[in-house]
Amino acid sequence: MAISEFALIRDYFAQATISRDDVLLGIGDDCALLQPPAGALLAVSMDTLVAGRHFLHDVDPRSLGHKSLAVNLSDLAAMGAVPGWVTLSISLQQPDPVWLAAFMRGFSSLANQHGVQLVGGDTTSGPLSITVQAHGFVDPAKALRRDAARPGDLLYVSGTLGDAGLALKMLQGQFDPGLLPAVRERLERPQPRLALGQALAGVAHAAIDLSDGLSSDLQHVCAASGVGATVELDKLPLSTAVTEYLQSARDWSLPLASGDDYELLFTLPIEQQAALDALQLDVSLTCIGRIDQQPGMRFVQADGDEIQRIPAGYDHFS
Ligand code: ADP
Ligand code: MG
Repeated sequence: MAISEFALIRDYFAQATISRDDVLLGIGDDCALLQPPAGALLAVSMDTLVAGRHFLHDVDPRSLGHKSLAVNLSDLAAMGAVPGWVTLSISLQQPDPVWLAAFMRGFSSLANQHGVQLVGGDTTSGPLSITVQAHGFVDPAKALRRDAARPGDLLYVSGTLGDAGLALKMLQGQFDPGLLPAVRERLERPQPRLALGQALAGVAHAAIDLSDGLSSDLQHVCAASGVGATVELDKLPLSTAVTEYLQSARDWSLPLASGDDYELLFTLPIEQQAALDALQLDVSLTCIGRIDQQPGMRFVQADGDEIQRIPAGYDHFS
């Protein structure tokens, strides 16, 4: 039996998340009416996930619901913002109640975990595609912009690099899937580093979330800030699974150029190192290099040799 657009909105979206006091009017009218906190900037970000391009058609719908929100919250984290509201535009071939319920369980549980309310959206029929827009709040003086890196800053990343890329390789059958259970969560249920981003606001200089891969995301920071960077490869934080992959495949592209890790890359003025060390966080932080005046990125091995061909990150149109 076909479900109408209005029944879908009523049954799956209208009551999906917690209610916030700053939402004067949520789902059900032509617009939501929202009250931003006094003095804060509104931080807004949007991402689209398309079937066959960003996820495999048979992906677990609950993981997909989680990830479609997580990638947007990750952008807010990278800005140092506190998330508040999200909208969801979803295009579905044939609404499948079981699939949609699972999708919304993944979406809502992450939203509720971070106190985020779904305040509106759009529902259409068509090839499966999901667009989420996230809205957060940030102190105008503390937003973590890409153009704020300065020569002499230390370069840090959170968590470990390349796990999501390794999981994708294994799911695509390009590598023995023995280590898949260790890294699959990282691909399918990335954790937006919101607490870290908020703690870094006013402490770090620049930040970006790692969606396209370290080399390409670091390049964005360098270009925006008019600086260069040196990365020490032996300092890269790697899981056991990625370390084993590196040893057998001798291929740096995983930690340097695979996307979807959603860790934060940030630059820290040296005088803030004590403040950083004092932070109590549930994710590890690793200094992997520094920001240089000299433009360009240098990836240096333990013996001092530079990698000459840096693997490129993900680009939809290249
Ligand atoms: P309109 O025709 O005025 O644009 P819609 O019929 O598209 O309104 O949507 C009705 C209400 O349901 C609106 O408040 C809209 O924001 C909300 N809505 C529609 N689809 C979704 C969705 N996928 N998630 C959350 N809210 C939705
Ligand atoms: Mg509409």
